Order: sequence, then C-alpha cells, then structure tokens
Amino acid sequence: MQPSSTPHPTLAEATRARNAWIEVDLDAIEANVRALRGWIGPGVELIAVVKANAYGHGVEGVAPALERAGVDRLAVVWMPEALGLRALGLTLPVLVLGHAFPEDAPAAVEASITMTCHSRELGRALSLAAVAAGKTATVHVKVDTGLHRFGVAPDEAVALAEFLRTLPGVEVEGLWTHMANADEADDSFSSRQRAVFEATVKRLPWVPYRHTANSATALRRGELRYEGVRSGLALRGVLPPNSPGPDLQPILALKARLARVHAIEPGEGVSYGLAWKAGAASRIGLVPVGYADGWKRQLGTAGGRVLVAGVPCPMVGRAAMDQFMVDVTAVPTAAEGDEVVLIGDQGGERITADEVAAHAGTISWDVVAPLGARLPRLFHRGGLVELVI
Ligand SMILES: *Cc1c(COP(=O)(O)O)cnc(C)c1O
Repeated sequence: MQPSSTPHPTLAEATRARNAWIEVDLDAIEANVRALRGWIGPGVELIAVVKANAYGHGVEGVAPALERAGVDRLAVVWMPEALGLRALGLTLPVLVLGHAFPEDAPAAVEASITMTCHSRELGRALSLAAVAAGKTATVHVKVDTGLHRFGVAPDEAVALAEFLRTLPGVEVEGLWTHMANADEADDSFSSRQRAVFEATVKRLPWVPYRHTANSATALRRGELRYEGVRSGLALRGVLPPNSPGPDLQPILALKARLARVHAIEPGEGVSYGLAWKAGAASRIGLVPVGYADGWKRQLGTAGGRVLVAGVPCPMVGRAAMDQFMVDVTAVPTAAEGDEVVLIGDQGGERITADEVAAHAGTISWDVVAPLGARLPRLFHRGGLVELVI
C-alpha cells in the first residue's frame, strides 16, 4: 500500500498528477467470480489463472481480490510466480501449469506449491524434498491430448502417474489437459481431445481431480468442466471469442492525460517518418503512452482510437516507445491534462480490449498481458483507491 495522507483517495485525486495509469475494479472482480460460478454450476472448482502478472493487471492486487472473492485455487505458469503468491500471504492451493526443474522441488515443497510433474527426475526431487521436510508434495500430470504444447503423451502420462504414486511423500492429486480449439468457431476438436483424456482417466481412476477447461471451454462445454475450470480471461470480465457467458464486467481500464495539444497546418506530418499528413488544419493531442508500455506500435497506423471528452479520436502517425498522437480536432476544448481513455469508458462511449486487439491484428489477451511495468496499477473499490502498485 502506498503511503498517502488520505488513506483511500478517489480515482480523480489519485490520478490528477499521473501521465498514464491502469485502473483495476475490485468490485467487478467479485461480480465476475459470482457470475462465473453461477454459469459453471455447483461442484466445480474455480481455478483463477493469475500468470503473467495476472494478465498484466497487477498480481499483487488481483490475486488477493480473487482469494477474497472466494475462488478455490490459483494457477500460474512459472514456479517463481507461485512463490510470489505465497510472498503475498495467499494461502489457497497454488498450481504451477508450466515447466519446472528438479532444483525447484525444495521451494515448492516448502511453500506447498502443487507442481505439474512432467518427468521422473522432477518427481524424484519432489519426493526427496518432501521426505526431508516431513511434508507431502502434491503433483498434477498434464496429458498432451492433441495441443502438442506442454505435457506428456497419454501412455507416458499413465506410466508417469503410476511411477509418481510409488514415491514416498508424493501425492498425485490431479490429471489435466488443455484444448487446442477452445475459442474457435469450430471447437469440435475438443471432443477428440476429450476422448483421449477420458481414455487416460479410465486408466488412472485413482486420481481424484481432473481439469481441462480454460475460460472458453468452461463456458461452452459442460462435459469438460470435471472437478475444476481454469479461468483467466473471463474472470477479467472479457468473454473469449465464440463463447456464450454470463454478463461480465471488464475489470481493467487504461487511461492517460494529454501531455500537449497543438495545431498543425494542412500537409504537415506527424511523428516518425511523417507517415501521417494532416488533410486539413488539425489539432493534435499527445498521449504519453507507447509501445514500451505494451501499447501496440501498429495501432497508430491501423485505425486505433481513444476517447477524449467522450469523443472517439483517431490515433495518427507512428506510435513511439513512450508516446503517440491523436487527432483531437473534434474536441475543441481538448487541453493538456485532459483524461484520455485507451481502454474503458468515458462519457457513454467504450473502447474494449477486443476492439484494440482487432485493430492491432491480435487477441485481447495480447493487449492486456504486455501492459508495462511503468504504468501504475490503481486498485479501486466503490470509487476509492485501495492499493497502488
Ligand atoms: C492461460 C491458461 C489458462 C487460462 O486461459 P483463459 O483463456 O484466459 O481462461 C488455462 N489453462 C492454461 C494451461 C493456461 O496456460
């Protein structure tokens, strides 16, 4: 928590003297957890995926809010991310979804981290560490059912799980997989993957906890929810493509303040290469956010827009590392210090991460996850800022 004379300033107070910032809505996180639970139904755990700095939102604020909102588990991809959650004082079960080394075993056991165990070497190291510490190392095995990314092939997964089961101090709790076409219009390949997973499950009936679904699969396919679903995007209030779902609230807004507003003549160019030229007398606003902050460079030349005084204003010229330009001719009052909305709501207009993704030729995950460390994250509840990181 950042020291401050007023313990919980309003968003306006907390952002008055900031060039750019991210707002994360803690009320919306709680609403999304409730809405997702309602959609997936009882008896299915909600595993909140908070990898990659909680998709760029700021894990120090998001993960505790998710724990408070009642999710059942947390998941990350790297072991150091898992240790970071423990350093925050979080006590929920934490699952590492990605690759880990035998060298990670003692810390995993010490911090009660559930590893995805992909090899006998890692299993042996976990067993040694568990016995030495007088604790149990809980592991999950990932079956590669067709995505051909991480995991082990079905036969190997069965052999590995049976081997791990014999190791002292090791408990094989989970079996999981991941879908290749979860959010494609045609997700029929998920049925093929399900058949492979089911065949593996049948050979390992003693493993109690199965999970296969990311947000899209959890929303679309009840038969793939098993004991838990791993949700990242939906908990952030964004529905994946081609997925039905409950009403969710976007939890992230990206905002800035105009750093300069100036007039240019017809024919004058803007930014590197003078690639954009004014067709008429124009007023140009400078926004102090750039690709170093994760704001995609190509947006400047691909139809990106931002809100100024509730008016959508087109980005013009090439975006730079630290700043980009917008045409604010349509907002005669625009002046230095005015709030600019890059993602979020202003005056009844909204720019979504999906819209930004469409302009940048990517997906919404790739718009928010790379948001840079320079942007302060302000976590607010009821309009008051509770935490700045
Ligand atoms: C990132 C990730 C998820 C979460 O995916 P969303 O589509 O954001 O819900 C689930 N499972 C695995 C293995 C992941 O890497």
